[in-house]
Amino acid sequence: MNAHAKSSAAVLDGAGCHGGQAEMRRAAAAAGKSETLARYAADYPAGPHDQPQSMCPAFGSLRVGLRMRRTATVLSGSACCVYGLTFTSHFYGARRSVGYVPFNSETLVTGKLFEDIREAVFKLADPEHYDTIVVTSLCVPTASGVPLQLLPKEINGVRIIGIDVPGFGVPTHAEAKDVLAAAMLRYARTEAEQGPVAAPRAGRAELPTVTLVGELFPADPIGIGRLLQPMGLAAGPVVPTREWRELYAALDCAAVAALHPHYTASMREFETAGRPIVGSAPVGHDGTSDWLERIGQACGVARASIDAARNAVLPAIRGALAACPIKARITMSGYEGSELIVARLLVESGADLRYVGTACPRTAWSAADAEWLEARGVHVQYRASLEQDLAALQEFRPDLAIGTTPVVQKAKESATPALYFTNLISARPLMGPAGAGSLAQVVNAAVAGKARMDEMNAFFEGVGSGNAAGIWEDVPRDRPEFSARYARRLAADAKKMGDVG
Ligand code: SF4
Repeated sequence: MNAHAKSSAAVLDGAGCHGGQAEMRRAAAAAGKSETLARYAADYPAGPHDQPQSMCPAFGSLRVGLRMRRTATVLSGSACCVYGLTFTSHFYGARRSVGYVPFNSETLVTGKLFEDIREAVFKLADPEHYDTIVVTSLCVPTASGVPLQLLPKEINGVRIIGIDVPGFGVPTHAEAKDVLAAAMLRYARTEAEQGPVAAPRAGRAELPTVTLVGELFPADPIGIGRLLQPMGLAAGPVVPTREWRELYAALDCAAVAALHPHYTASMREFETAGRPIVGSAPVGHDGTSDWLERIGQACGVARASIDAARNAVLPAIRGALAACPIKARITMSGYEGSELIVARLLVESGADLRYVGTACPRTAWSAADAEWLEARGVHVQYRASLEQDLAALQEFRPDLAIGTTPVVQKAKESATPALYFTNLISARPLMGPAGAGSLAQVVNAAVAGKARMDEMNAFFEGVGSGNAAGIWEDVPRDRPEFSARYARRLAADAKKMGDVG
C-alpha cells in the first residue's frame, strides 16, 4: 500500500455508500485498483443511477455464491456492511454461514488485512467440504487496494476466487451477480482449456444445448426446453449456476441465451469461448417467435425445424394471452434486469403500459426489446433513478404501479394499487405458453383492489401525513431549516474529505 493509500485508508474507515464515493474511487485507483475500476466502468456504465439507491450491490454476488453447492463465501468489509448483507441473505433463506474477515484502521493501513484474509482462506480450504471459496472485498477494502489477486488460485484442490464488489464501481446488485458469474466462468474456461473436466451430474446432454443466462423462475428452463425440442436442441444450464461443474456444461453449448441482458462480463467469457449469443427472451407471441428464429439461426437449425418449433407453440401462446387480458394503465420499474421482457409480456396481454424503468444499463442484449416497446409508445428508461420512477407515477397516474419498495409505498399513499416487482412479478413463470397469461391473474387482482384502497384512504382521512402522520396532542412541526443546516454541514464534510485525499 503506498503513502497516498495509507492516508486515504484512515479517512475511508467510516465512509460508506451515502458519502465519500469520489474519495473512495480516487483511493482505490491510487491503491492499484485502476484496472478493475476501468473494467467495471466499461462493463457497467454509470449515470444517472450511478450509486446504490437500493440494497448494497454486493448482495448480488453474495447471493450467487450462497446458492452454489460446496461453495464457501467470505466477506471483508466494514462491520455494518457485513451485518446488513448477512441479515439480508438470511432473510432470503441462505441457510449457510457467511465468513467474515474484519479489519480495523491498523490492519487496513499496515496491509495485515490481506494476511488475515489469506489465513482465513487457508483454514477454510478443506476439499472434503468445498469446491470453491469466494472472497469478496466490499467498499473500504477495495478502496484500500487489498490485493485479492495475490491469493493462491487453489489450495488443496479448492478453487479460490477473489472479487472486488464496491458500491462505487458496481452500480446494482444485478450487475454484481455478473461479476461473480463471470469470474467463475473465466476460471472454468481456463480449466477446460487445460484438460478434461467433470461432466454434469446428470451426464452430458445428448442434444446440442442452449445455455440460459439470468436468475429464472424454476419452471422457465423446463418450459424453454420444450420450446427448443422441435429444433433438436435442449435447454442447458442456467448461469449463475448452482454447482461448479455446471460451468463447464454452460460453456460447452451451441448458443447462449442472454435472457437477462446485464451479464456483460459473462458474455465476454462466452464470446471468448466462441459461442454465439442471442438477446431478448421467449416472452409473449412476438417475443417467442423472434427468439426461436434467432436461436435456430445461431445454432444452424434447418428452416423447416424452426418453423415447426414456432408452429408448435405460437397458437397456444396467442390463445393464453387472449384468455387472460389485462385492461389497465400501468407504470413499471425494477432492478432485476428482467424489466423489459416483463414489459413486453404486459403489452402483449393488452396492458396500457406507459413507462418501464430499469436500474440496469442499456446493453446489446435488450436492444430488440427496447425497440419493440418504444414502437408501441412505451417510454423505456435505462439506469432509471428513483426520481424518474416517481415522476412517471406522477405523470401517468396509472391504475397499477409495479415497482421497488419506495415506488410501491408512494403509490399506495395516493391509493394507487401497486405490486412489488421483485417479490410478485419475478416470482412467476414468464417464458413461452406458461408465461403467457401468468401475469394477468396477479395484475388484475391488484387493479381490482382500487375500491378497497379508496376506502382505506377515506378511513384514514385527516390523520395527517409525513412528519405529522398520527394522532397528536401537539402536531409535530416541520423544521426545514434544520435539514438545510445539516445538508450544508454534510457538504462541507464531504469537501474536507476530498481535500484530505
Ligand atoms: S459495501 Fe455496500 S453497504 Fe457497505 S458502503 Fe459499500 S455499498 Fe454501502
